[in-house]
Amino acid sequence: MARHTGPSCRLCRREGVKLFLKGTRCLTEKCAVDKRAYPPGQHGQSTGRRRKASQYSRQLREKQKVKRIYGLTEGQFRTTFERVEREEGKTGHNLLIALESRLDNVVYRLGFAPSRKSARQLVRHGHLEVGGHRVDIPSYQVKPGEEVRLAKGSRELVVVAASLELASRGQPVSWITVDRDAKVGRVTERPTRDAIPIAAEEQLIVELYSK
Ligand code: SF4
Repeated sequence: MARHTGPSCRLCRREGVKLFLKGTRCLTEKCAVDKRAYPPGQHGQSTGRRRKASQYSRQLREKQKVKRIYGLTEGQFRTTFERVEREEGKTGHNLLIALESRLDNVVYRLGFAPSRKSARQLVRHGHLEVGGHRVDIPSYQVKPGEEVRLAKGSRELVVVAASLELASRGQPVSWITVDRDAKVGRVTERPTRDAIPIAAEEQLIVELYSK
């Protein structure tokens, strides 16, 4: 299935939680989840009267939620799942770790972009270097110890400066370090599930794909 190109806020309202797809706007009172806390569409306001969700529906919604948080297509998400399924350890944890290790996500976590969508664009346009080499593949898996930096001609981008200003008000995740002045960061270790601030029941996704 193709990547969603419609209004991002509808996706959050469909899942009933903030997926933080629009950067700064997500932190303001303009957030659609805060303003209209019911699913989008003609019957959105009547869904509260629906019967209890089935287990399959819960599994499906959880998969859709996580897929949308990271902005992946169904094919990309499935491919990632099939890869981590062969790894040792809990598949659900490995799935989230693989998603967090994507270059576009690391760029977002470093505060170089206000959203994962914007981070993916920065990567695709060749603004990032990993270990001193330009990498323009958003799905590139950043390994512990690798350095991620803005390419020389890209350090003064307005979108990066505005994003870093916003990010400076919060703390980066524990498994990365960032030097905001030099616009360089590093993944220091493989993230653990506890160090990934995503409220997801990843086991439901494993159950869904294991049917
Ligand atoms: Fe989701 Fe952000 Fe839109 Fe709120 S503003 S509904 S968090 S994309």
